[in-house]
Amino acid sequence: LTAKLKDVSLVSDRALIAGEWVGAAESGKTFDVTNPSTGEVLATLPDMNRVEAKRAIDAAYKAQKGWAKRTGKERAAVLRKLFDLMVQNADDLATILTAEMGKPFVEARGEILYGASYVEWFGEEAKRLYGDVIPGHLSDKRIVVIKQPVGVVAAITPWNFPNAMLARKMAPAIAAGCAMVSKPARETPLSALALGVLADRAGVPAGIFNVIPSKDSPAMGLEFTENSKVRKLTFTGSTEVGRILARQGAEQILKLGLELGGNAPFIVFDDADIDAAVEGAMVSKYRNNGQTCVCANRLYVQSGVYDVFAKKLADRVSAMKVGDGFEHGVNAGPMIDKKALAKVEEHIEDALSKGARIQVGGKPHEKGGLFFQPTVLTGVTAEMKMAREETFGPVAPLFKFETEEEVVKLANNTEFGLASYFYSKDVSKIFRVAEELEYGMVGINTGLISTEVAPFGGIKQSGQGREGSKYGLDDYTEIKYLCLSI
Ligand code: ADP
Repeated sequence: LTAKLKDVSLVSDRALIAGEWVGAAESGKTFDVTNPSTGEVLATLPDMNRVEAKRAIDAAYKAQKGWAKRTGKERAAVLRKLFDLMVQNADDLATILTAEMGKPFVEARGEILYGASYVEWFGEEAKRLYGDVIPGHLSDKRIVVIKQPVGVVAAITPWNFPNAMLARKMAPAIAAGCAMVSKPARETPLSALALGVLADRAGVPAGIFNVIPSKDSPAMGLEFTENSKVRKLTFTGSTEVGRILARQGAEQILKLGLELGGNAPFIVFDDADIDAAVEGAMVSKYRNNGQTCVCANRLYVQSGVYDVFAKKLADRVSAMKVGDGFEHGVNAGPMIDKKALAKVEEHIEDALSKGARIQVGGKPHEKGGLFFQPTVLTGVTAEMKMAREETFGPVAPLFKFETEEEVVKLANNTEFGLASYFYSKDVSKIFRVAEELEYGMVGINTGLISTEVAPFGGIKQSGQGREGSKYGLDDYTEIKYLCLSI
C-alpha cells in the first residue's frame, strides 16, 4: 500500500486518543486489516477496548468545553483547513480506501470529495448557528432561544463508506462545538485514521476528535452507551445493531442519530424515459457494488415497459468490468467479505427456486475470491427473500406491476423507509407518488440523491435524525430557552 502513496504518513497503525497516537502496547492485542481484492494484510492495528474508549471519552469531555467557547468563525477556519487537506490528499485517501474496502479507485476518489464536501459545508454553517428571539408572553418578559453543542458525541461507522460516513458525523459535531470519539468498522479503520491524521494537521485540538480501532464492537458500543459523559451516539449500520444500541442507550436517555438499513424501491412507470431510468438504475443499484444503504433493492417495472427495460439494463450490466479497484476501467470491486457474498448467493438461489430467471450474471465471478457477477433477474415476486431483505450486492431483481396504486402499496410494504426512487414524466403522478412513498428520501427521475446540502436520513426502522444540510447541524445542538423578567 505505501508504495502507491505520495504521503505515507497518512497510513497510521495507531489509535488517536486525546491527541496522541497510541499503539498496541496499551491494549496488548492487535488485529489485521486486509485488502478484500487480494487478501493481502495492509496493516496491523491495536485492538482497543473499553479502557481506551473511556480514556478517549474523558479527554473529549475535558477538551469540549474549550472548543465550544471558540467562535463559530474559529471552528470554521479549522474545518476549512481540513477540507483543503482532504482535497489536496484526495488521491492518497482514495488509495487507502480502495485498498481496505475494494471499491474502484474512481468511486473511492468520489467518496473522498463527497466526505470533504460535508467538512466544507458544516464549516460554513458553524458561523450560522442562529437562535431566536420570541415575543414575550407577558409585558415584562423577554424570551431568547440559543443553541448549544450537545457535548461529547460517540460515533460508530460502517465499512461501505469508510471516509464519508465518518466525515459527515465529525464535521457537524466539530462545527457545533462538540467533541467526538469514533469507532470505525474493523474492516476499514485506515480511512478513519487518515482523517484523524489530517484533522490533527488542520488544527483540531487534542481530544476533540478521537479514533479508536477495535475488533470488539459490542464492548465499544457498551462504553459509548453506558458512559454518562457521552451525550449523543451517532451510528450508521444495520437496523439490528441500531436496535441494540438504542436499547442500551435507553438507560441514560441517550440522544441518538441512527442511519440504518434500507430496502429501496426503484419504480419505472410506463411513461418514464426508459434510457434515463436504465442509467439511474445503474447508478443506484451497482454503485459500490450494490453495497450502500440507498441502493435500489427492488426494481418495480410497469408491464408496458418491463421487457424493454430488462433488456436494456441487462445489456448495460453485461458490459460492466469486475476486478481489483486499482485496475483501470473496473466498475465493480469485490464483496466486502465471505458472509456478504454468501447472502447474495442465498438470495439468488431462493429467487430461482421460486421461479425467477437470470438475464445476466447470477454466479460468483470467474476471478474467484470475493468477486461476484453483476446480475439482473426477471420474474421476481413478493414471495422471494429479495422482496423483504436488503441483498446488499450487485443484483437487480425486476418485479412486474400493473397500476400506480398497486406499486405504491408494494413499495411501502416494508419496515424500512430510507431511500426510494421513481421514474415518470407525469407531473400529477410525480407529486402523488412522492407524497405517498413512506421514505425519508425520494429520487424522482434520478438515481443519485446524496449531497451535503440536503437532509439524508430515514423513517420507520431506517433510523432517526438527518445528516447534511442545516437540519444536520441541528442534530448536534441542544435548544436552550432563556426567560428574562425585566
Ligand atoms: P454492516 O457491517 O452490515 O455495515 P453493522 O451494523 O454490523 O453493519 O456494522 C456497523 C458498525 O457497527 C461497524 O462499525 C460494526 O463494527 C459496529 N457494530 C457491530 N455490532 C455492534 C454492537 N453490538 N455494538 C456496537 N457496534 C457494533
